[in-house]
Amino acid sequence: MQEVPPFEAPLEFKRKDVPAKAEPFPMLQVRITGGVYKDAQEWNRGYMERLPADRLVHNFRVNAGLDSTAKPFGGWEEPKGELRGHFTGHFLSASALLYASTGSKDVKAKGDEMVAELAKCQAKLGGGYLSAFPREFWDRLDRRVQVWAPFYTIHKIMAGMYDMYRLAGNQQALEVLQGMAGWADEWTGAKTEEHMQNILQTEYGGMNEVLYNLAAVTHDDKWAKAGDRFTKKSFFNPLALRRDELRGLHVNTHIPQVIGAARRYEISGDMRFHDVADYFWYEVLTARSYVTGGTSNGEGWLTPPRQLAAELKRSVATAECCCAYNMLKLTRHLYAWTADPRYFDYYERTLINHRIGTIHPDNGHTQYYLSLTPGAWKTFNTEDNSFWCCTGTGVEEYAKLNDSIYWRDADGIYVNLFVPSGVDWAEKGIHVRQETSFPEQAGTKLTMKVAKPTHMLVRLRVPEWAQGGGVKINGKSLETFAAPSSYLTISRMWNTGDHIELSLPMALRVESMPDDANLQAFLYGPVVLAGDLGAEGLTEALVTGPNAPQMRRLPLSVPTLKAAGSDPQSWIKPGDGPLTFHTAGQQKDVTLVPLNRIFDMRYSVYWQVTA
Ligand SMILES: [Zn+2]
Repeated sequence: MQEVPPFEAPLEFKRKDVPAKAEPFPMLQVRITGGVYKDAQEWNRGYMERLPADRLVHNFRVNAGLDSTAKPFGGWEEPKGELRGHFTGHFLSASALLYASTGSKDVKAKGDEMVAELAKCQAKLGGGYLSAFPREFWDRLDRRVQVWAPFYTIHKIMAGMYDMYRLAGNQQALEVLQGMAGWADEWTGAKTEEHMQNILQTEYGGMNEVLYNLAAVTHDDKWAKAGDRFTKKSFFNPLALRRDELRGLHVNTHIPQVIGAARRYEISGDMRFHDVADYFWYEVLTARSYVTGGTSNGEGWLTPPRQLAAELKRSVATAECCCAYNMLKLTRHLYAWTADPRYFDYYERTLINHRIGTIHPDNGHTQYYLSLTPGAWKTFNTEDNSFWCCTGTGVEEYAKLNDSIYWRDADGIYVNLFVPSGVDWAEKGIHVRQETSFPEQAGTKLTMKVAKPTHMLVRLRVPEWAQGGGVKINGKSLETFAAPSSYLTISRMWNTGDHIELSLPMALRVESMPDDANLQAFLYGPVVLAGDLGAEGLTEALVTGPNAPQMRRLPLSVPTLKAAGSDPQSWIKPGDGPLTFHTAGQQKDVTLVPLNRIFDMRYSVYWQVTA
């Protein structure tokens, strides 16, 4: 029997909201109070503060024919660059997120000022279209003549406006967004479906997602119907049939489309979109992700599934940061549908190993690729001459580190991440404070403050890596515990001062590549360990500016390791500080430290290990 592709027929949008099983607390109600998360937030805030608003809107003013004396940026934002304006959109999102994370009035004021400036540009351009590049790019896109990615850039600006409205309450941003959406609706509505599918071969970011988001907040289905035109059927059909045809695709082009699919399911209940998101996430996670949670090589998936050792050899440009950022965003949707703690096993792994540790403590600059090639080093953007895609998702990422720690439903609260923080459930008169130096400390402590004694469920995530564990309430041990990748649920009446101490013992673990059992990485609990290979020859020019380590300019022979037994604890021993280890009995022993602590140093995550 001939199989009918699920997305063959034209799409018909009908609004039907799918209730979430769990929802995150509004960001304004959650505060990060310490640790490396607070540090990363501040490093990023510092970088954002140093970028002036007039420079961020310069290309838009020029394109609209308005005066600007600001000094143009370089890199992907240089005045002739085809993606110019993309970072401005990211910056708006980051401003909205940082405002929601910290309540900073200065951050909001700068975002508001930029929205107002961009609204002037939009008015000058006729009231709908808003961009830093001319309309001629759209003619090229339409004629299928080479142009970088106009809709990708437009999506960033629309998403920035949406976030300024949703998170920072800026009404003008919603008006600008509706003007832009109206232009996009008109432009795409004039194409035949066949031609539109052809246009979708050019990267378009999350155009579908932002239009669905707009439909959701305005209750106007028109925007969802426009969003449906960004359904790339050749990509969605195999996914809905649970088939991995990802080889050869550009990774970060496609993850945002799947986030859009997730959003489409949430506002329509159409299971085809559910299946696209569900299978895609599962496949990327289980068949195409490195030990850090990162995915992609040279921005693509280059091999059949489960061939990561082969993939790793293809280039040093592994694990683009945008991909990690977008996979975390997708994970939040899937978790909201199910409240399944396994989603947070992935979230935690990627957050700890690929996000924390790719922002530089000195200046808040971030990475493009987190190279996993043995002997690599981390490279970072320049202050104002890079503005890669990942610089854009970078400023967003570290502005929203509080957004997934605590979730809720009608019965109570889910504690999904172990981060020093507090959540204020104002509607219920409950405040929960979390104190921990996790992962240096193998556990966490939660303390309650309530307006009046209150009954609720507290669900504590017990991670996949936990080696047993224990919990104490007000100093008294509970007899039961929960299995890894599940919740330990505590149901009781809570009083002010009640506290929970959760201990989650960690152990040293090995993860081998699926296609090469001898190519191995080591973890302690959730923390990926990297061997410190020294800093010899590393110069500022090699670290700042290149988007990946230029290994040929600084060759290094990385030692192979010999395992004394199948248990890594037999030959990898605790070192001097927390989360520090060293090998024993090797020709050349190495010190292992968390990958997320390595800066300005060469390292190896994967090792050739012989028995
Ligand atoms: Zn990127």
